[in-house]
Amino acid sequence: MVQLDISFKERYSLFISGEQVPPSTDDYLPTYDPATGNSFAEIAIADSRDVDQAVTTARTAFESWRDVSPEKRGRIVHRIGRRIRDSADELAAIECKDQGKPMSQARSDIRGAWRYFEYYSGVADKLEGRSVPVGSDQVDYTFREPYGVSAQVTPWNFPGNLFARGVAPALVAGNTVVVKPAPQTTLSTLKLAELCSEAGLPDGAVNVVTGTGESAGQPLVSHPDIDTITFTGSVATGQSIMQHAADTVTPVTLELGGKNPAVVFPDAPLDQTAESIATAIFTNAGQVCSAADRLLVHEDIHDRLVDRIVSIVDEYEIGPGNADPDMGPLASAEHRDRVLEYIAVGKEAGAKPITGGNVPDRPGYFVEPTIFTDVQNEMRIAQEEIFGPVLSVISFRDEKAALSIANDTKYGLTAGIFTNDITRAHRLARYLEAGNVYVNKWFGDTTQTPFGGYKSSGIGREKGLEALDSYLQTKNVAIDISADGSGTLPGA
Ligand code: NAD
Repeated sequence: MVQLDISFKERYSLFISGEQVPPSTDDYLPTYDPATGNSFAEIAIADSRDVDQAVTTARTAFESWRDVSPEKRGRIVHRIGRRIRDSADELAAIECKDQGKPMSQARSDIRGAWRYFEYYSGVADKLEGRSVPVGSDQVDYTFREPYGVSAQVTPWNFPGNLFARGVAPALVAGNTVVVKPAPQTTLSTLKLAELCSEAGLPDGAVNVVTGTGESAGQPLVSHPDIDTITFTGSVATGQSIMQHAADTVTPVTLELGGKNPAVVFPDAPLDQTAESIATAIFTNAGQVCSAADRLLVHEDIHDRLVDRIVSIVDEYEIGPGNADPDMGPLASAEHRDRVLEYIAVGKEAGAKPITGGNVPDRPGYFVEPTIFTDVQNEMRIAQEEIFGPVLSVISFRDEKAALSIANDTKYGLTAGIFTNDITRAHRLARYLEAGNVYVNKWFGDTTQTPFGGYKSSGIGREKGLEALDSYLQTKNVAIDISADGSGTLPGA
């Protein structure tokens, strides 16, 4: 058992203009330890008045942050990364308690968080425009400018890591930010915002409004003074945000999850593939948008591969995050019930639960790692994002059928191919409808690589240099340098 050497406050305020601010509502929500079901702190419920204050503050801070020299901006962002690195143990402990994930996974998330700040810090003084050759009578150039105030709404599966994924590129590009974390997992976001201040970020450049989607999220995404929105979460909420954004023509970057196929051919190394698939679906108890929740396996190796995955999973130690088990609880009671409902739906549809499917006899929001065989791709458990420790196994006969099943979903976030045939791997990588394709591994994304969805899985890209496109707009400047001032007509 890892000692959580931190104390939690009874109540957490909002974070606006570098200060802890009580909510206008004077209302608070309990936050729970998913491993026990006990409430251990309260978070503030912000409403539209607090959101307005946070956005106004961010707007004021933007006016000066945008003009901080790129070199200095990069240095401050780098210092934030350093502060996160120095506080990594505390942050991982917070994540472990508030979200429920195993300690080693929490540490990995926090390592990812400081990496975002380090990675993007180096880009601050390289955000160059270009010179466009339009002829001898005109000088034409572009430069890339920040949008202004970025609203960021984050989910409960990777709260600290996703704060960094959006905030680091937004800041480095010269934007200021208002973050609305999920009510289930707010605490790491508040700590990270404090660390930003301690690292020398001007007050108001990062603000946090906490509470529910209704109380704080919706007022934030529909605020008229927001310039760009970054959201990670469910499709339904993403669609609602797009509708609000349409009123003010505000650009959105959306990451909306997936129903990701792992396609396994008979020539794949079985033991290694079984290990990869187990990690790919049961990490963070399946609460991962890029999890391999559909296993498409060739009929010749179906039974052997499934047996191996089951034998790995049957050895899993399940427990509280601070015991660093193989799998922890789900993030909330509500979500546990949603996952259990899907397990019932799978059984009813005729899929066969060959392991798991039950709630372990212990407190907290645990669900056993569950594997369904005899799944048809049209079943709900093969089409809808369960976001829990549930693997749906589908058998296929040949490559053509595998591709057709893999692409037969509204989602398109990640996909994986397990084979030793290099031509097949490249061929499928081209035709799989997904923003990220892994070959002979899973979770192949890093800080440096672009990540995002095709189809209903989202709009835009996070991570890598591509993420900067969500935080920078291009301005073109055209200057007449002709001797007689003779302009050209539009369209020339
Ligand atoms: P959600 O989409 O409702 O919530 C995500 C975030 O959006 C939270 O911060 C929430 O408070 C906020 N929010 C909710 N309604 C809002 C609104 N109208 N305007 C602005 N912000 C709003 O997700 P959920 O209910 O917590 O989970 C439901 C399902 O979403 C899960 O089962 C899973 O399938 C999916 N999900 C996906 C991801 C992902 O990484 N893609 C993450 C979390 C959840």
